[in-house]
Amino acid sequence: MIHDAELDDIEELFFRLNNGEPLNAAEKRNAMGGKMCRLIREVAEHKFFKDIIFITNKRYQHYDLAARFLLVEQGIKEGVSPYRDLKKRFLDNLVQADRYRNMGDAELDALKKAVDKQLKALGRVFSKKDPLLKRAGYPQLYYLFVKEMESNYAGERLFSQIKKFLPEFAHDRAESLDLDPDKKSADDKYAYLDEFERLMQQGNDKLSLEKRVNTMKRFFLLRHPETKLRDKRRNFSEEERYAIFIRSGEKCEECGTKFHHFGEFQADHSVQWAHGGGTTLRNARALCQSCNARLGKPIA
Ligand SMILES: [Zn+2]
Repeated sequence: MIHDAELDDIEELFFRLNNGEPLNAAEKRNAMGGKMCRLIREVAEHKFFKDIIFITNKRYQHYDLAARFLLVEQGIKEGVSPYRDLKKRFLDNLVQADRYRNMGDAELDALKKAVDKQLKALGRVFSKKDPLLKRAGYPQLYYLFVKEMESNYAGERLFSQIKKFLPEFAHDRAESLDLDPDKKSADDKYAYLDEFERLMQQGNDKLSLEKRVNTMKRFFLLRHPETKLRDKRRNFSEEERYAIFIRSGEKCEECGTKFHHFGEFQADHSVQWAHGGGTTLRNARALCQSCNARLGKPIA
């Protein structure tokens, strides 16, 4: 029985059955060579693969996942949606197409950094050998979910809330699967969960991934209605900076040091941007460079 599109394409399954276990897709891709092929192997060195997911690199399953993560990030860099088909033929294209085979080192490096950054974020949400990541099909779904949450929402506790939410959502799904269909009709919560299960079968299809992430987002926001939208604009404009400078009386609002010129002043978010503070004059303060460095705490 095929669960959760553990195999991307049914043809591949039959191909393998008829040919007595030839190379699988990831193994074939790994044999193709080229820069992207090397990058996939490098990405798969990240400790996320060794420590967090359950899946081993047997038959290059890590390379398969690493290629999917790279495809997501490459899509974003190309200006398309992070949601895209993560099926076999698109992974093959990532390794085979000249555009990627001959990619410049700077571009390859930026791509690797984007995936590493996201894997680090996943490290804050999952535990070691997390059972939530036991089955194929899940790592890419959660990768996209965490990305979606992080790019749209803010708050000091966002990651700990996501960490708590994921097993709760898994529990909701399990409960819904056990429930008599007649008892479900009253609550539209179950309509979403039923659709979610149906979409799990479509594995790495673009629309299926996007819809499932949206359902997860809906359930998350219902549990956490206080979640703050992230201000899409992080930097103050030149005009805003000037207004903040004048409003401060041309001195640091923390230590009182007088600014000698505009270049010494820094516009800071009073409530950190990553914690949901808006890029607004109301949430702005004028700081000297040393106060800004001291107060610019990394996100917890
Ligand atoms: Zn100061």
